[in-house]
Amino acid sequence: METVLMRGKPVADVYREAITKKITAAKEHGLTVTLAIVVVGDDPASHVYKDRLVKLIESLGGAAKVIMLPADSDEEKVIGVIKKLNRNRYVTGILPMMPMPKHINGDAVGAAVSANKDVDCLNPINAGDVFMGRSPWAACTPRACMATLAHYGIELEGKNVVVIGRSNVVGKPVSVLLLNKNATVTVCHSRTRNLPELLKTADVIVAAVGKPCFVQPDMVKEGVVIVDVGINAVDGKLVGDVDPAVAEKASAFTPVPGGIGVVSNMMVMECLTRNL
Ligand code: NAP
Repeated sequence: METVLMRGKPVADVYREAITKKITAAKEHGLTVTLAIVVVGDDPASHVYKDRLVKLIESLGGAAKVIMLPADSDEEKVIGVIKKLNRNRYVTGILPMMPMPKHINGDAVGAAVSANKDVDCLNPINAGDVFMGRSPWAACTPRACMATLAHYGIELEGKNVVVIGRSNVVGKPVSVLLLNKNATVTVCHSRTRNLPELLKTADVIVAAVGKPCFVQPDMVKEGVVIVDVGINAVDGKLVGDVDPAVAEKASAFTPVPGGIGVVSNMMVMECLTRNL
């Protein structure tokens, strides 16, 4: 059995072309597509993510407006900044970096982003529309999982898919998107009792646990498709939630790094240009 390495770059490249066209056309009409990124505090991962997004939007012909606030900014101040960006007609989309410092309610900040400038489905109106099946604009990472599976021709209808993780940003929304593709979806979490048995039934596993190498080869069946969402820093290296040794049993898998993360960033840009 040949194993398909589902790299993110070829997937992102397909979107890159279409998005660049939209941004270029908008520019010809005097509109510079602009992503506002709000960073509160010094979380190193947020700063790395912010730098990647700035580079990406600029490479697509758009612009970034980065607002950095000190870690001790209060919630009112952060929400005030978001509201100002909502009103700014030169700003196309807004992305507050999560997680916020502990004293700030990230959900309240996300809810303050106006629904039509919300590029990562943080506003509950947008999330509600996704869960009702009325909008495809789920958060960027669940959409990246779906775009990757589609790009590599992975059929989902009637398949047993096990999602590990039920966060609002990954596990829950990806489960809904998979259901919409007629997969039979099992969502697991820290209180799931029979995870190894459930994983053995999976044709497809989406791992979003946040634990390095959590999924081991003896937990999966031969021929499984692996979507590894996890990004964990271990000894200065990035590793996924799935042990790379699982690839030997898999029919297809996403690498870490170079898999879902790359597509996810492009999904932010796709959402940013959705109304153009
Ligand atoms: P999260 O909010 O910490 O959620 C982790 C989920 O895993 C929770 O639902 C938790 O269950 C579950 N879990 C924890 N331990 C478990 C166990 N022993 N057995 C089964 N389930 C368990 O994390 P997240 O934000 O969803 O992110 C997950 C991973 O994806 C992280 O590594 C993160 O860095 C990565 N990520 C990647 C991207 C990307 O673009 N590639 C984007 C976002 C996140 P409970 O709900 O019961 O606590």
